Formats: sequence, structure tokens, C-alpha cells
Amino acid sequence: MTTLLVQHAAVLVTLDDHRREIPDGGLFIRDGFIVQVGPSSQLPASADEVLDLTGHILLPGLINTHHHFYQTLTRAVPAAQNANLFSWLKELYPIWARLTPEDIRISTQTALAELALSGCTTASDHLYLFPNGSRLDDEIEAAVAIGLRLHASRGSMSLGESQGGLPPDRVVENEAAVLKDSQRLIETYHDPNPGAMTQIVLAPCSPFSVTAELMRATASLAREYGVHLHTHLAETEDEEAFCLQKVGFRPVDYMNSLNWIGPDVWFAHCVHVNQAEMRLFGEAGCGVAHCPTSNMRLASGVAPVMDMLGWGVQVGLGVDGSASNDGSHMLGEVRQALLAARVREGMTGFSRSDDADAHQEWPYRADAHQGWAYRDPARKLMTARQALEIATRGGAAVLGRTDLGSLEPGKCADFFAVNLNRLEYAGALHDPVAAIVFCAPVKADTTVVGGKVVVKEGQLVSMDVQGLVERHNRAAKRLLNG
Ligand SMILES: [Zn+2]
Repeated sequence: MTTLLVQHAAVLVTLDDHRREIPDGGLFIRDGFIVQVGPSSQLPASADEVLDLTGHILLPGLINTHHHFYQTLTRAVPAAQNANLFSWLKELYPIWARLTPEDIRISTQTALAELALSGCTTASDHLYLFPNGSRLDDEIEAAVAIGLRLHASRGSMSLGESQGGLPPDRVVENEAAVLKDSQRLIETYHDPNPGAMTQIVLAPCSPFSVTAELMRATASLAREYGVHLHTHLAETEDEEAFCLQKVGFRPVDYMNSLNWIGPDVWFAHCVHVNQAEMRLFGEAGCGVAHCPTSNMRLASGVAPVMDMLGWGVQVGLGVDGSASNDGSHMLGEVRQALLAARVREGMTGFSRSDDADAHQEWPYRADAHQGWAYRDPARKLMTARQALEIATRGGAAVLGRTDLGSLEPGKCADFFAVNLNRLEYAGALHDPVAAIVFCAPVKADTTVVGGKVVVKEGQLVSMDVQGLVERHNRAAKRLLNG
């Protein structure tokens, strides 16, 4: 048994059921799990290891619910800088078709290093291309070196261009092979126990790149093993048009027809969902990975997150793939979530007047302007604490992890700490909890996963970041040049 005592945090933000914020707070940890939370004076006086966080704010580790690690190799690609989702994908598919197993390994470590340094302790990744002998195993093995918890998604694409899908035929896979590999991965790596470092998720890519048959078969396989399901959904108006034209359903109705609605399913994006669809998510326990930066970058829109919360939808936060962010800064994403929600509610906080059931919920004025009805902009401003809650408790709920998301006895010892005595927070210390969301995003000084220190004094413990950056840049250059 090993013990860790964390003490003297200026404020410890538990995000427990009472949302306690404890001055001079600390944690007593045994074998990776929290035993005690409280004022430092009430904790044991010693332990095998002691971490003094005087002057720091201490929070539960942030949980990233949607990413594509491999895309860190194709950030800011010139031809894909000023494109919406479908044209962005069409520019990038041929580049991604050149990915190698080594590219998967390097990009996994780069993305996880960036996440760890921004306060993230658990990340879900969605890998849906397996060119040139690449396997999800490459990602899982590479992740171990960084020390973050990983929910690795076995993604897939099977609907190529020749069958009416978006991706070129050479990046799609045979469906029987996808299912066989999915089963192998679950049996090899999935750990359903509390404190799990690795879980497997099954994640066909999107309605426009996967057949209905593969969606259905994947859901059956996932439920046989009790693993979660994930896909992109309702990201753009183009996708909605695609679904209406090809299958005669809006995206959410399409998922419903495929048995893809339930508490074991979470969808990335959900920008273009109506009130009835959000209500369905709330009642069924479906999760949403909200990815505000990506949605802004690709001009997809802003997801109606406050409405989702109103309907009881489980909402987590995701940085999304690094070709549409183009970073993996989780604390920065928390700030983006707050600002994007306010943009939607305040400025473009208009709901379409054809969204009929919305009128029963919110007070619209009669003087609709060009089909849009005005909503009182002061009604539903996301708070800093709500944004943090989505990124912690929300993410844990979305991933189905009852052992993560808050700092309380019995939960995993996953947390990060930031020194409050810094330029970025000068003048904001009357409310440190709000400061770390409202003020410019900073790096974590300390990140701990399962009681193990991953980031110490602002540096990654396990790896030389500069060496990683050099290897990553060489791989990116080769990938782009063909
Ligand atoms: Zn994505």
C-alpha cells in the first residue's frame, strides 16, 4: 500500500454533490483512490509521499470526451484552413490515408502530453482510419508512457464514395473485419473495473461514412460486452441534409431507428438538434461530447448546451481532433464552452421559429425577425462553475465512469493544480474558481492520475517534450509531403 498526502491547497474544488470548495484543503490517497477530503488540519499528518500545494487551486482532473489524436499531425493544413466539415474532410482524407503505425504512436503521445499539461486526466480518443497496418493497439501502447486514462475508440468507416458515402474507397474497411477486430480489442484491453486505465469504445465514424448495417451490428456487439458506443452526430447542416436525402430521417431519428439511443451511447457535437431530440437524449440518458472550438473552427454552429442541460442531457466536453481545434488544451476548452454558450444565448441566442416545440418551453416574442424569434439574452448564461462541471462530472457521466469526475472518498485520485500567483490571474483572486475559467488559459503546474504525478512543476514527468515535438514535426512533414 502506498499513500499520498496532498495538503494546503488555497482552495480545493471538490465538485462533489454539495459542490464544496474547501480553503486550505487537501486529500489523503491510498493506492490511487481518495480516502479523505477536507481541510488540511483534519487529514493525517504524514504519508509515503507529501505534496504541498500552498498557493494553488486544486480541481478534479478534466475529462476529454472527444478527440482524434492522429490529427495533431495535420494542424493548420493550408488547404483545410478555410473549409467547412465536408470539404475539410475531403482535403484531409488523402493525407490521413498515408498514416503509419509510428505516426499513430507519436501523435498519441503529443496529444496526451498536451492534454496532461492542460489539466486533463482522462481522454477518450476516436481512431477511425487504420491505413498501412495501423491498429488501435499502437495508440493504446503509446498512451501508457504518458500515464493518462484512455478510452480508446475502435472507430470505423465502411461507406465509401462509390457507395454514396463521403470518404474515398481506399480508407474504408470491410465490415466483418471491423467487427472481428472490435471484439479482439475488447477482449484484450477493456477493463470494466473502478480505477481502469484503459477502456474500449466502439465508434463507427458518422452517418455519412458508415452503413446502417454496421451501425446496428456494432451496437449489438457493444451491448454483448457492456462497452460504450460513440459516433459523430448532428454536427452540420450538410449532415442533416445527407441523412434526410439518403435515409429519410433527421440524424437523431436515424440513430433511434438503428437502436443507437441509450445510456451507453454518447454523440460528438449535436449542434443541430431540436428540443424534441434533446428531450429524447435526456430521457434516454444519452451523452453529448460538446466541442465548441471545433464547431467554431469549421463554422458548424454553436451547440444548444444550456437547453441540453435543461432537458437533463449528460453533457461532457471535448477538444475534438487537432485538425479542427487546433489544440488539445482542456482548460482552454472550458473557457470556450462558457463563451460559446453565451454567444448562443446572447447574440445568436435565437431559436428557429420552425422548431415548434421550443415555443412551449421558452418565452419568445411575437415580433419574429426573418423566421427567427428573439429570446431574452439574460436568461441562461453559463457560469464558470457550470463550465467546470461539464468538463469533470459531465465527462465522467458521458463515459460511464462513476469512479471519476469529483474529489470525494472512494473516487480515483485524479486532479490538477494551478499556481494562483501568476500574471494571468492578477486582480482576479477574489474568486479563484471563476478566475481559472474567465482568465487566459494557463498550463497545469501539477497533474496527478490515480495518485501518480504526471505533470510536476509544469513539466511532463515521463517524457522529454522537446524530443517528442521534434519527432512529431518530422512525421508531420513526411505525412504532408507524401
Ligand atoms: Zn470528431
